[in-house]
Amino acid sequence: MSNPRKRREALVYHAKPTPGKIKVVPTKKYASQRDLALAYSPGVAEPCLEIEKDKNNAYKYTTKGNLVAVISNGTAVLGLGNIGPEASKPVMEGKGLLFKIFADIDVFDIEVDTENIEEFIQTVKNIAPTFGGINLEDIKAPEAFEIERRLKEELDIPVMHDDQHGTAIISAAALLNALELAEKNIEDVNIVISGAGAAAISCSRLYQSCGARKENMVMLDSKGVIRADRENLTSQKAEFATDKDLNTLDEAMKDADVFIGLSTSDIVSPAMLNNMAENPIVFAMANPDPEIAYDLAVKTREDIIMATGRSDHPNQVNNVLGFPFIFRGALDVRATKINEEMKMAAVKALARLAKEPVPEQVNIAYGETKLMFGRDYIIPKPFDPRLIAEVPPAVAKAAMESGVAKEPIEDWERYENQLLD
Ligand code: NAP
Ligand code: MG
Repeated sequence: MSNPRKRREALVYHAKPTPGKIKVVPTKKYASQRDLALAYSPGVAEPCLEIEKDKNNAYKYTTKGNLVAVISNGTAVLGLGNIGPEASKPVMEGKGLLFKIFADIDVFDIEVDTENIEEFIQTVKNIAPTFGGINLEDIKAPEAFEIERRLKEELDIPVMHDDQHGTAIISAAALLNALELAEKNIEDVNIVISGAGAAAISCSRLYQSCGARKENMVMLDSKGVIRADRENLTSQKAEFATDKDLNTLDEAMKDADVFIGLSTSDIVSPAMLNNMAENPIVFAMANPDPEIAYDLAVKTREDIIMATGRSDHPNQVNNVLGFPFIFRGALDVRATKINEEMKMAAVKALARLAKEPVPEQVNIAYGETKLMFGRDYIIPKPFDPRLIAEVPPAVAKAAMESGVAKEPIEDWERYENQLLD
């Protein structure tokens, strides 16, 4: 953010009236000596003993069931890179704010001072008893893959690395809707993915779960097309290596139906767009500056269906459409995991919601007059009050049906009303 006025505004927002963005607020009475004797010693010993007998009672007597840890080591923060744990704290607090306002989930942000995979995993495991869920955040690839895989395996609470799966879920919903508008089948389309980091790998995997074919995908990293004959590929890159005789983005873009950008700014030229198939789908999601500027892209191709990571253009692939609602659904059935079925349920709920008529209050919130399913509206807007009613129940149902829900919901009407409270 180079604009001095905006920079100052952001700093004042964080500094005043108290430093930071979240705080802890008691939820029980604390006015009298009697209240304090219940809140702390001696009364507090009773729930301690109940939990000692059965750990599950922690969900009954403590905040565990509605408390998520947003954990980072600060190695891949926003587009800022490895800025360290302290410097990542504003982002983690921000995530806490979003969890709270969109899904009423409480967050402790935890910044861990280690880049060592084993140390990081052990730290998270050691503090996991405090939490109902773990949101891993802004950890660099490839370490992030191993950290998430191990923690999912070794913990019995939901663990999700949002930079991977949040982006994958939202962009998959957008992709399904874009393909519907372009009248193309996901099984048939050629997809070029620029980037092979945490987000790109996870998106590509989820698109495959949605039906995209690996042989129709070409992935590029900073060295060019990831070819099967390239040496020293990480296992994640090798998974997407192509046998096609392609080397450059220019070559890969010829006749492509879909471009997925999770790499860096301004690497796609108008000429490349002109070489794409009709109704090209271009998700240029590098932040803050996309792989091709929005205005340039829509000027180049009238038939484009475009999304970016930015709020100042239509179709923002914004992770806040996912993580609050996915964790809400997972926590509410005490899911032991966030599995593929739950992620797919979130994809479908988001895609479906974008096709419903838009409530007036959403138009007003975004200064629009007639948001309607189409090229400029392929995914819901974050301030859509229907998200909380649609996405968590879909995720909770998928958890139940896939056998990972420890507390299945019985009365759905009551649950849905509770979500809207
Ligand atoms: P990451 O793990 O650091 O990965 C970045 C990837 O981009 C790496 O694979 C890198 O290649 C590749 N790359 C760099 N320059 C390239 C070039 N000129 N051509 C092709 N590939 C290139 O980062 P990430 O978390 O996946 O995020 C990637 C980008 O997507 C960031 O800009 C991030 O802000 C954005 N993003 C947006 C959203 C959203 O809009 N909702 C969500 C997540 C991420 P090497 O492997 O060779 O280094
Ligand atoms: Mg992030």
